[in-house]
Amino acid sequence: MEYLKCDRCGVEYRDQGSIDMAKNGKEAWEKTCEKDGVEARGLFPCPAIPCTGEMILCIDYEDQPCPHCGATLEFLTLEENRFISVAVMLGIRGKLEYNDVRDADMSTTEYRCPKCDFLIATDEEEAIRFLRSEAPKEAEVEQEKEKPEEG
Ligand SMILES: [Zn+2]
Ligand SMILES: [Zn+2]
Repeated sequence: MEYLKCDRCGVEYRDQGSIDMAKNGKEAWEKTCEKDGVEARGLFPCPAIPCTGEMILCIDYEDQPCPHCGATLEFLTLEENRFISVAVMLGIRGKLEYNDVRDADMSTTEYRCPKCDFLIATDEEEAIRFLRSEAPKEAEVEQEKEKPEEG
């Protein structure tokens, strides 16, 4: 669910009319800011006087159920094992200097259910997809509809 929130005073607008109006006025506001030599942070200036904030378009996401234990999850637990390779050299003060830090192949990133420890995602994109509930369910349903006829 989309809503508008001021980045200074925190006032919120949740009605669709305000959101549509803000989206339509976005370009004009960006141009106004450009003239002033600043970058627009939001879609339009906060109407609460004398607030100097701007209205930012935000999105509410619903909590997702863990596929294993069913607990509704606001957040995931990130477990990261980082194996790194580093170039080590002797610096001018006689101490070791570390350069060129790289992730070695064996690094693992795991996003788990905080309740039951079930592995939910293995990279950032997957974790975002889970929390935004953009699982590829719809694609699967569509494919089933398009089964080729056998005759
Ligand atoms: Zn404000
Ligand atoms: Zn769970």
